[in-house]
Amino acid sequence: MAGFDPYSILGVGRDATPEEIKKAYRNLARKYHPDHNPNDSTAEEKFKDVKKAYDILSEPSKRQQYDNYGFTGDEQPGAGGFGGGNFGFNFEDIFDTMFGDGFGRSGAAQQRSRRGADVSITLSLTFEEAIFGTEKEVAARVLATCEECQGTGAKNGTELSKCSQCNGSGRIQTVQNTILGRIVQPRVCPKCSGAGTVILQPCPNCRGQGRVEATIRKKINIPAGVDNGTRLRVSGAGHAGSNGSPAGDLYIVINVGQHEYFERKGQHIYLTVPIGLAQSAMGVELEVPTLDGSRRLKVPAGTGSGSVFRFHGKGVPNLNRGGRGDQVVTVEIEVPKRLNPEQREALRKYAKASGETVENVDNSLANRLKKVFGRR
Ligand SMILES: [Zn+2]
Ligand SMILES: [Zn+2]
Repeated sequence: MAGFDPYSILGVGRDATPEEIKKAYRNLARKYHPDHNPNDSTAEEKFKDVKKAYDILSEPSKRQQYDNYGFTGDEQPGAGGFGGGNFGFNFEDIFDTMFGDGFGRSGAAQQRSRRGADVSITLSLTFEEAIFGTEKEVAARVLATCEECQGTGAKNGTELSKCSQCNGSGRIQTVQNTILGRIVQPRVCPKCSGAGTVILQPCPNCRGQGRVEATIRKKINIPAGVDNGTRLRVSGAGHAGSNGSPAGDLYIVINVGQHEYFERKGQHIYLTVPIGLAQSAMGVELEVPTLDGSRRLKVPAGTGSGSVFRFHGKGVPNLNRGGRGDQVVTVEIEVPKRLNPEQREALRKYAKASGETVENVDNSLANRLKKVFGRR
């Protein structure tokens, strides 16, 4: 399951105004409403997603949380945490779904220090670039550590003070009375989000978040042999972690363009070449284009349409094992659609020499079959 991105579901930009969000929601909700799509089961799913997306983006605090904790791309763990019709998460839910087990078990403070989320972008390559590799500069929007406060979120030089609600532990206990008795549950302190400290004067540059949105640019070496959907990971180039924690990773998902003649299937390159009637019967040597310039192909006399030839090692480099696949050349006989008088005469002569009846009724097939099945 891909990450839940409310912006893309509503088809609005990250800087969309509340009015734009509302408008997009109304249009889509009307479009996918189950009452309007009684026979389309996917419409109901879409309707739910649209509603979920609107629930996030229409609520300023939820939208802020989404923006800050960037559930970006397909790397968002626990996307299932958004399930259910009644959407509503709080801070702990986010942390729990994002960081899974191990979080909040230690009881120590500094739980606000978290590894940054991963970011995923798409990179389009030409057919040849994907096969031979290239160097590309990619850009991605990420949350980068705020330089003014070094990610602390506190205004330069100001102190953090101990959180009064959890007394610096980052955790509080909630007590629930149930028919099974009292259940005491440790929870992340809502006031300090588990850090144990609160910022008295927030850094004006990042508004106390410790991170700011920024565009990063990276030169990426694309290895030879990548294909549609190949994911390249750039370690540590995702969202910055909070409070000095490591950054997430940047994933580059490759999208490969088509070629005018060649077709690629995995390691092999496919090409269909047309040959003439006489060439197929008498043989020919062809110059066939390959990824590395043209190459001779000897088509022997008597080659039928659909015959396949292979150029070993002229295909796509193997990303992992080394070596290359093949180029597979399929020969297709082009039967002339129209004959000029000279061609017609030549073919008549050919037919006569080989005893073929042309332009007339041919009984030979029926006669041959009679021999097989007997006269009736
Ligand atoms: Zn700052
Ligand atoms: Zn606290």
